[in-house]
Amino acid sequence: MAEAVLLGTARALPSVDQENTYLALVGEEHAVLIDCAGSPYRRLQQASLDPNHLDSVILTHFHPDHVYGLPALMLSLWLTGRQSPLEIHASADTSERTQALLALFHPEQWPAMFEIRYHVVAMEPGCAVLTSADFEITAAPVQHIVPTIGLRVINRISGAVLTYSADTEPCPNLRRLARGANLLIHEASGARKGHSSAAQAGLIAPRDPT
Ligand SMILES: [Zn+2]
Repeated sequence: MAEAVLLGTARALPSVDQENTYLALVGEEHAVLIDCAGSPYRRLQQASLDPNHLDSVILTHFHPDHVYGLPALMLSLWLTGRQSPLEIHASADTSERTQALLALFHPEQWPAMFEIRYHVVAMEPGCAVLTSADFEITAAPVQHIVPTIGLRVINRISGAVLTYSADTEPCPNLRRLARGANLLIHEASGARKGHSSAAQAGLIAPRDPT
């Protein structure tokens, strides 16, 4: 049975007990990481998930608290002898900056480094991100400080829908992503530019009855 595993739940400032927000979608065939903060290899193990079961990473935007775990994840997976490619899905802006970040470590010089494949997610509502045996994932631009996508995940086996807001103010695209969702994972950093309060987050899911 597919599940969403919250690996971190903190806002931009982490705490002793919380890493920054990121999560894993674990299906029968595939596992997908959404954002990549903290110590992902360690957190996946703590959640009894095999890090090498991971085949895709979706990055919602290029703010440090959403991407800084990626270089360490690359290193950890390489040290395990991983050979299968890792697919990274992100907007053109996030993808370009992520490639620049990883290039600082010259992974092309790591012997037998696995392949990293980049897939650009268009900044338009309903853009397909990936489809696997387990999940159908689409995206839409949301209202943050830098180009950011929110996500709608359909479990292809059960039909259940999960929506992940990423960082955003309340906006029409997010309401559409959350329409009819069984589970909404929404940030609650506070009611300020590019973010939402817990009360605003609570209004997103029930606002649309369809
Ligand atoms: Zn952000």
